[in-house]
Amino acid sequence: MQRLTTQFIDNQWIPSRGARSLAVTDPYRQVPIAELTAGDAADVDAAVAAARRALPAWQALGGERRAAYLEAFATVLVERREELMRLSSTNNGKALAEAGIDLDDAIACYRYYAGQARALEARQGRLVEHGMDGIEARSYEDPAGVVGLITPWNFPLVTSAWKIAPALAAGCTVVFKPSEVTPLPEQALAEIALEIGLPAGVLNLVHGDGEGIGAPLTAHPGVDKLSFTGSNAVGEKVMRAAAEGVRGVSLELGGKSPILVLDDADLEAAADWVMAGIYFNSGQICSATSRLIVHASLAEALYAALATRIDALRLGDPLDAATDMGPMTSARQRQAVEGYLAVAGEEGLVAVRDARHRELPTQGEFVAPTLFRDVPNESRLWREEIFGPVLCARSVESDAEAIALANDSAFGLAATVISGDTQRARRVGRALRAGSIWFNSEQLVMPEASWGGFGISGIGRELGPWGLSAYLEVKHLIGPAD
Ligand code: NAD
Repeated sequence: MQRLTTQFIDNQWIPSRGARSLAVTDPYRQVPIAELTAGDAADVDAAVAAARRALPAWQALGGERRAAYLEAFATVLVERREELMRLSSTNNGKALAEAGIDLDDAIACYRYYAGQARALEARQGRLVEHGMDGIEARSYEDPAGVVGLITPWNFPLVTSAWKIAPALAAGCTVVFKPSEVTPLPEQALAEIALEIGLPAGVLNLVHGDGEGIGAPLTAHPGVDKLSFTGSNAVGEKVMRAAAEGVRGVSLELGGKSPILVLDDADLEAAADWVMAGIYFNSGQICSATSRLIVHASLAEALYAALATRIDALRLGDPLDAATDMGPMTSARQRQAVEGYLAVAGEEGLVAVRDARHRELPTQGEFVAPTLFRDVPNESRLWREEIFGPVLCARSVESDAEAIALANDSAFGLAATVISGDTQRARRVGRALRAGSIWFNSEQLVMPEASWGGFGISGIGRELGPWGLSAYLEVKHLIGPAD
């Protein structure tokens, strides 16, 4: 069994100052695979101090040279792809093929921000057009400073790439806290930093939980900006902590995203998109399209098509290429989802498919893929993020009703529209209140397009040029022209 007893600070493996031991588990085999010595506030202090020392030189290096390090991150991730896929699959429980998609996403992200780092350098000092004679104004973008980055467990190496790559491209130095549930794949980032010769202190990785590392990091006065991905409950704490000292904060939080199936949709294709939007990663996706809104004329046939597909899903060992859906990532998450299933029982929801319709594997933190139909608008399962393989469905009579129902949510992370007419799908999509809206597709993510939500799904955007802006301060130099 692996022991993670050290923190990665200033390019050195320093014994963790914390004393508490946390078990890291394989959620399929239900055995501990590593023991983590959770860090504490003293580790955070040391990491922030190292990041602070490294900041001036990293900023002065310029975008072109920082880009080379980002390219090197991508290169080593490519070399270690198979090994990291297996590690991620083992620690997180996701099907191996899904872990491959994650690795490719992370690699694309580091490459993309290498390009953005170069573009940043090229535009430093550009002239601003204005109407004042004899005066020049030039714009510059400086790094936000030392940034504290905190990520969850559902997409190891991906949610961290979306923060670390733009932060380093911008010239920020980083203190990164991965989830204590999936520290093993994220540990590779520290190893890669050493391997590629990243200057000491530019990327510090501190292991621990919210209490030991997360809260001290968000409260640390030496951190200029915080970027957090995770639950709404913790996101609110992070924002409160950022208020102290007026520090910047970006939040990527939960979702309860709708998928609209319009009356002209191809039924079989629609059923495939619905499946892809909810059962991927066992439903542990912030952008899962977990509210199905279907035109009444198609509802019965769609539920039948979904039942067939759910029955065909193969649950099992994530490392087995034949597996479609692995276990939940932790016993805790399984219990959280089971809590919602108990509420469904109390609310009298009608299950088209649930645990009564299949035998679960004899080992692993599994929840049966579940579909509830005719779920009332006020049901907790319709309104709250479940973060598991639980789809709630309702039928509607018109596009207008579908749009109104889709937008009737405090969240606004993602949405999907399925229609036989792409113009109509675009029109309906444009009316939805969400950051990522897919039509006749699902969960397509590219580093060039933004990620983030309306409403309580968060603050700010990751990916694309917006993701870089989150780590930059804009300034202008204004005076007499030569
Ligand atoms: P979580 O909020 O419990 O934990 C997220 C991270 O915060 C972990 O690293 C955790 O250790 C840390 N943390 C816990 N308490 C803290 C504190 N007081 N201060 C600072 N940090 C603290 O979330 P989770 O269970 O790991 O992940 C699931 C959630 O993440 C879901 O709600 C999901 O929707 C969300 N999520 C959002 C996105 C997005 O892009 N919007 C992506 C993935 C996951």
